[in-house]
Amino acid sequence: MEYDVVIGLEVHSELKTKSKVFCSCKNEFKGEPNTHCCPVCIGLPGALPIPNKEAVKMTIKAGLAVGSKINDIAIFERKNYFYPDLAKAYQISQAVRPICIGGGVEIENAQGQKKFIRLNRIHLEEDAGKLIHNSKIGGTMIDYNRGGVPLIEIVSEPDMSSAEEAVAYLSKLRNILQYIEVSDCKMEQGSLRCDVNISLKPKGSNELGVRAEMKNLNSFRSVARAIEYEIKRQSRLLDEGEQVVQETRRWDDARNRSFSMRRKEDAQDYRYFPDPDLLPFRIERSLVDEVKSTMPKLRDEKIEYYVNELGLSEYDAKVLTNDLNLVKYFDKVVSYFNKPKFICNFILTTVLKKVKENEESDDLDIPIDPQNFANLMQMYESGKISQAICRDLFDEIWLNNADCQKLVEERGLAQNNNEDEIKSMLQELINEFPQSVQDYKSGNAKALSFFIGQLMKRTQGKANAQIASKLIKEMLD
Ligand SMILES: [Zn+2]
Repeated sequence: MEYDVVIGLEVHSELKTKSKVFCSCKNEFKGEPNTHCCPVCIGLPGALPIPNKEAVKMTIKAGLAVGSKINDIAIFERKNYFYPDLAKAYQISQAVRPICIGGGVEIENAQGQKKFIRLNRIHLEEDAGKLIHNSKIGGTMIDYNRGGVPLIEIVSEPDMSSAEEAVAYLSKLRNILQYIEVSDCKMEQGSLRCDVNISLKPKGSNELGVRAEMKNLNSFRSVARAIEYEIKRQSRLLDEGEQVVQETRRWDDARNRSFSMRRKEDAQDYRYFPDPDLLPFRIERSLVDEVKSTMPKLRDEKIEYYVNELGLSEYDAKVLTNDLNLVKYFDKVVSYFNKPKFICNFILTTVLKKVKENEESDDLDIPIDPQNFANLMQMYESGKISQAICRDLFDEIWLNNADCQKLVEERGLAQNNNEDEIKSMLQELINEFPQSVQDYKSGNAKALSFFIGQLMKRTQGKANAQIASKLIKEMLD
């Protein structure tokens, strides 16, 4: 039987405030376990939470960036459940009155078709602590540093119908959250993660099927694979006339399959009720306007700037702006060496290739200091070093960030641009390899690259390849 696939995502994103959401403990990923904790965030009885205004502002900012309506009154509620990483046995969250309602984002598939994914809401809540399973001691340890870190949950409507669309949506959201600087969105560190709700229904039917939820996926790859797997699993069940049960499943990336964790609860199972320690709060229009005035350039505006002001092609600008880390890096490098097109070319080819080779994760990180990278680009662009040397140096400083100018001086890597010297070396090669000269004369153009290759070998890549190509042609023609 053929089925329609219905997918909704709940995306959790940690906000990068200085302190936690209901206390003044540091909000920081690093730090010794259980050092950023106080009676409030470990949930000692009687400790009183105080909302962090910055976290509220960031939630509003996220809402404005995706066209949500900002509620004028919001309420914090207790979501009751027991788990060891949640010492007080309830999570402060929002149910009936979240900060943001509605909105949506537009995604584009590989064929360039656009689709609007509606949002249900964005609410603010606290993160739980972290369980660390340790096979050496045969037990589980708890780190409460993450407990009380502000978290926004962005809930979509079930508007997606394939793994590709879910990944495009997640990637778009990540891009927006990065640009408005409310979250660093490091998927590997868990500051951006998502739950996928997925169900199947007979093709064309209006009635929704029973859904399964997959928890805590933290890479684009696992989102895609988990969805593909779940589509197969559910269609097999339905084909065989069996029921899909409403449940929460855990995705195991290593084994490429999901496992049932527990029967899925409904909202009423959590017994939400307004937190008596936190009064409903009014969000003044003036606060919303204040947040609006701090909204930075989003991706589309940045693309426009790169194309119109810096002369990049639209394609290049799109690739570059796909990740804010890359944008920031590029802007910095250009501020030291103002040749944007030249730098962009190198980044989109050599640098991105390197990133892909080196990183399994979706977080982009370039280990070379921008000033050092700008110096490398400047030496290459001015012809001080050859392309071959530039690539070698790039590979080296990627590993150790050594000063590339110093390396060129110390090792005498400067490019040889002296036409007379290059000419005499080429003459030697012509004398040595008469067969290749013959090949060229009988129409084999490849013989030219043979001479350039030999020349590079002898000069350890220091001869100016452009000059050499021009000369060898002249000499043989
Ligand atoms: Zn605390």
